[in-house]
Formats: sequence, structure tokens, C-alpha cells
Amino acid sequence: MDDCIFCRIAGGEIPSAKVYEGKRAVAFLDAAPMSKGHLLVVPRAHWKDLAAVPGSGATEEERAAYAEVCDVVRAAARAAVEVFGGGANVLQCTGEEAGQTVGHLHFHVIPRPKGGKVPPEFVSGAYRYADDADRAATAAALRAAIAKAL
Ligand SMILES: [Zn+2]
Repeated sequence: MDDCIFCRIAGGEIPSAKVYEGKRAVAFLDAAPMSKGHLLVVPRAHWKDLAAVPGSGATEEERAAYAEVCDVVRAAARAAVEVFGGGANVLQCTGEEAGQTVGHLHFHVIPRPKGGKVPPEFVSGAYRYADDADRAATAAALRAAIAKAL
């Protein structure tokens, strides 16, 4: 897509600090990092977000592209731990409501050096279900939707 900044970065039209260039995926430093070494991992193919990635109907090429993206995310997390010590957050935003600002699937790999604080949005217990029925109904809705999406 000509107007997509990540397609243009992946294609080399826009310069970036690339740390991985594969057949189907690239990784580069985020231009607005949350921490030192904050990376973005993107497929070369244009998928709007994670919900747009095909499931059981995917072609071999689509499966290979998604597999390469996931493998680079794994390697980038390991690299963050090795280079900076501490840990890493992997963040994927699907949709504007989730904070997605570029409409091309990307995974953030955010190094969290030793001694840093866990960001408040990642602290458990930020949401409480109204009651057990609400919790069960939520689980049932997601169970059905996941079965459909596979
Ligand atoms: Zn794109």
C-alpha cells in the first residue's frame, strides 16, 4: 500500500534503523520509543491489524509470513533481555481504541531494564467483573469467537 508508512519502511522507501530484514518480516527501532531499544516487528505483507490476519483459510505464504513475524518477536524479546538485562514487554495494539496509530500489523518489543518499574497499565487487577455470571458470560462469548477465528 503506497500510503502506508510501515509498507514503505519495510520496502526501504523510508529509512529506519533496521535490526532484522527477512523475506517476510522486518524489525526496526520505534521512532517514538517507550524505552531504549524499543522495536517494532512487522510483516512485509500489509495486514491492518492482528484481527485481519487470516486463520484456517490462510495460504501457505500467509502462514509463513505470520510464522516469521512471531519468530522475530520471540528473538527480539530474547535480544532485549540479553542486551539490556531485565525483561521485555510485547505489545500488540489492534484498533484505534487499543492505541493503534499505524494501520499495519506491528508488535512492539519494549525492553524493560533491571531496576525499572512495571508500567501501571500492565498491573493485574485493573478490571473487576461485576459478578460470576458476568465473568462466565464473558468467557462464553470469547470461547465462541475464538473457535470461529481459528
Ligand atoms: Zn502497510
